[in-house]
Amino acid sequence: MPTPLENIRRRYETTEKKCPDCGYVDEGRNWESRTDGKRVIYRHVCPSCDASREHTFRLG
Ligand SMILES: [Zn+2]
Repeated sequence: MPTPLENIRRRYETTEKKCPDCGYVDEGRNWESRTDGKRVIYRHVCPSCDASREHTFRLG
């Protein structure tokens, strides 16, 4: 079973493919996640224009 965090990541990978800055649709699923133990930060960098997006979730 996927964990809740995997579900969140998957949601971004499938629903936030399009860059709001340049309109590039990223099929490569370049979301990366990192955590500091209290939060999980999902980050995406557009391969076309280098614009970055971040979503932060608090754990627990
Ligand atoms: Zn872009």
